[in-house]
Amino acid sequence: MTNAGRLKNKTAIVGMDIGGTKMMAAVFDQKFHKIGVCRKKSRSKNGGETEMRVIKVIREAIENAGNPPIAGIGVGSPGPLDPATGVIIDTPNLGWKNFPLAHLLRETFKTPVVVDNDVNVGTYGEWRCTALRSKKHVLGVFPGTGIGGGIIIDGKILHGFSGAAGEVGHITIMPDGPFCGCGKRGCLEALASRVAIAKEVAALAAREDAPYILEHCGTDVNAIRSGVLARAIEAGETMVEEVVRKAAYYIGIGVGNLINVLSPEVVVLGGGLVEAMETLVLEEVEKAVAEHAMPFLRKNVRIAAAQLGDDAVVMGAAKLISERIDEGGAKK
Ligand SMILES: [Zn+2]
Repeated sequence: MTNAGRLKNKTAIVGMDIGGTKMMAAVFDQKFHKIGVCRKKSRSKNGGETEMRVIKVIREAIENAGNPPIAGIGVGSPGPLDPATGVIIDTPNLGWKNFPLAHLLRETFKTPVVVDNDVNVGTYGEWRCTALRSKKHVLGVFPGTGIGGGIIIDGKILHGFSGAAGEVGHITIMPDGPFCGCGKRGCLEALASRVAIAKEVAALAAREDAPYILEHCGTDVNAIRSGVLARAIEAGETMVEEVVRKAAYYIGIGVGNLINVLSPEVVVLGGGLVEAMETLVLEEVEKAVAEHAMPFLRKNVRIAAAQLGDDAVVMGAAKLISERIDEGGAKK
């Protein structure tokens, strides 16, 4: 991993992950070793603006790293956002509307800053910081509370005309299916996110068809997380398993369609659902891909589980800014 390039001696880079519930900054040295970290909740009890918390988390991570000179900051943020300007267009969760995040961080830290969608950045991390780095065409799909996607074509993140390409969760799978958070019906996310699965499993629990779930979570959709789903399946709850398998199969239909359109070499699946039930999810995704992607396009496509877990976004963000600096394309 060469960050040497234009990065000056002894400088470090920062990767920042802004999530809906928590945020994390990590500082990396020139050999890409993590030398400082700071994590905080995205919202404090006393309120306070999100951007002030972002600055604080970055500052503390730099302090924890022993205050090295910083050569650049990469940020993964929920979208929609404009990756060219680093303006966050609208994230009600974080209280940002047309918010110039890159500009603020550039002014505050006097260093180049790049901001991109968190799932794009996570996919970038899984690509650049694992054995996949020799590939050039990578599709990342991350089922969790929603379903995020990142697309790398020819070694570049695909942003599209709007800047927001890669909304894999809002591919229509079932035109008359359940409502999605986006207002449409039958999106992949409405059928296969952790929330969609939990809703169906809560109904099973209410009918006493899932006693393990009923005992541990009651019928509370928010309590039915990926880990407890995995344990219920291990405990032999076959109807819970069927619900999860069906959701994973829907994800596979989405992946199969994307393989037909984009022809990736590798598909990385990550997020809570995959971490908790990797074998089961991959099995169903592979089955659906075999049934829905064209033989010539799906031939030799590797479907792999993500490797970096919670570090994917900070690592991807740090890689992104260090490569931007190496290319000489980072604005200060
Ligand atoms: Zn949708």
